Amino acid sequence: MIRKTKPEFIAPYLRDASNFSGGNAEEVVIPETSDELVAFLKNETRPVTIAGAGTGLTASRIPFGGVIVSLERLNEITLEEEGRIRVGPAVTLNKLQSFLVSTNWFYPPNPTETWASLGGTLATNASGSRSYKYGVTRDYVEEVELVLVDGKKTIVKRGLKITEPLKFEDGSHISFPEVSYQSPECKNAAGYFVHPGMDWLDLFIGSDGTLGIFTKIVLRLLPCPIDFVSGILFFEDETSCWKLIPKIKAFNGQKIAPCSLEYFDHNALDKLKSRHQNIPPHSKAALFFEQDVDQLEDYDLVMENWYEFLSEEKIMLDDSWFAQGAKDIQKFHDFRHDIPIIINEENSRAGKVKLGTDMAVTDNHFISMMEFYKKTLANNGLDYVMFGHLGDNHLHINLLPDASQREYAHQVYDLIVDQILEWRGTVSAEHGVGKLKKKYFAKMVGAKGLSDLKKIKDCLDPDNRLGLGNIL
Ligand SMILES: Cc1cc2nc3c(=O)[nH]c(=O)nc-3n(C[C@H](O)[C@H](O)[C@H](O)COP(=O)(O)OP(=O)(O)OC[C@H]3O[C@@H](n4cnc5c(N)ncnc54)[C@H](O)[C@@H]3O)c2cc1C
Repeated sequence: MIRKTKPEFIAPYLRDASNFSGGNAEEVVIPETSDELVAFLKNETRPVTIAGAGTGLTASRIPFGGVIVSLERLNEITLEEEGRIRVGPAVTLNKLQSFLVSTNWFYPPNPTETWASLGGTLATNASGSRSYKYGVTRDYVEEVELVLVDGKKTIVKRGLKITEPLKFEDGSHISFPEVSYQSPECKNAAGYFVHPGMDWLDLFIGSDGTLGIFTKIVLRLLPCPIDFVSGILFFEDETSCWKLIPKIKAFNGQKIAPCSLEYFDHNALDKLKSRHQNIPPHSKAALFFEQDVDQLEDYDLVMENWYEFLSEEKIMLDDSWFAQGAKDIQKFHDFRHDIPIIINEENSRAGKVKLGTDMAVTDNHFISMMEFYKKTLANNGLDYVMFGHLGDNHLHINLLPDASQREYAHQVYDLIVDQILEWRGTVSAEHGVGKLKKKYFAKMVGAKGLSDLKKIKDCLDPDNRLGLGNIL
């Protein structure tokens, strides 16, 4: 096992993509195997923070003291039986996708940041544009090798319910506590996942590095779609774009059945023009859609269905873009990927710090949510950009205050949180709570919710040593 104690070796592990500073640790340990990790943890009493690839946006991998465990050496990848792949937690989404190119298999969760490690994507239950149809990381995890912070190890398989005890290799076991807390109904990545009758696996996925350490992961794959019908639609006004979403959902997966529905408001389009000069000048909003096609002979029909549907709607059809092949599909994904990247680059040049929201509501509040966002943001004098997962009622608003507006931007954030919570939405549908959204999470679940989640944490980490400072 490699151990690093010099400050210059520890420094890279004190950062992630959140710009949070203030973390510290005594050392970084890099085990070669999970058994080495187990042996180390059995003799350890300090706080432990797990480092993935550091692309997280909530400072959850930034340590508050103690030791950083980096699993970067656990990066093996093997295709098992049909439709299952075994990976080490350090395997990145990029590496997994490259590995799958030569197979007929497909891993549906597609978070935008492909340098994320699979261990990190499990810990945050990451999702992406295709989650509208395919769901989130949790839906594709079949089995994990899990190590608790005290070094107890177990294999957690899909199907092991929380009504049964979780047994460890040393013969000990843990029972799930009595709690009344339940996760919200909308897409959600805030706090522990709690639903009656769920599997133990579901609890660990999305636990933000605070309940257990994933040292091996078995993922479920789907047969690769033969192609995607895909386009970027442009609109002369934003509301025409929003109104399309309930109509698409009303098809109930018949005829029109997209897997992605990604939004760009007029500010997002303005920013994107620096890299994509062919954006129609008078467009005020855009929607990236794609629908997967399983059989070649269905492609033309799916395409025709979309044309027929769209030609009845208020869309700048002649100015919209439709993919003519795999290269265009990649271009459209790059278009989507470019928006957070452009914002981050502009911010670091201007010394600005963005405040990023990640909230979601259920379908019935979708149009009200959009109207509320527009009204609130149009009237406050702050620079902002709005984009994201319209199909999941899940938008990313990036507030971009200058130095004199920072406090005001936090007030606007608070205002948005209050309204979303009134609709029983979530303060994080994708990135998790980490260290940055705890105030909002506490508001979301209340004192009773926090105490229930603490009971769960106490069963697995009674001394509160793993992922110290995250969530609770
Ligand atoms: C430009 C950009 C775009 C992004 N787009 C998306 C997106 O579309 N969807 C999305 O969901 N997220 C997105 N993210 C956020 C980020 O990529 C995800 O949260 C990702 O899952 C983090 O993975 P990581 O390996 O970088 O984890 P890290 O940042 O290193 O860690 C995140 C958390 O996971 C824990 N952890 C890591 N490995 C393990 C392990 N093996 N066992 C237990 N805990 C572990 C850490 O302790 C920490 O709590 C984006 C980020 C950026 C910068």
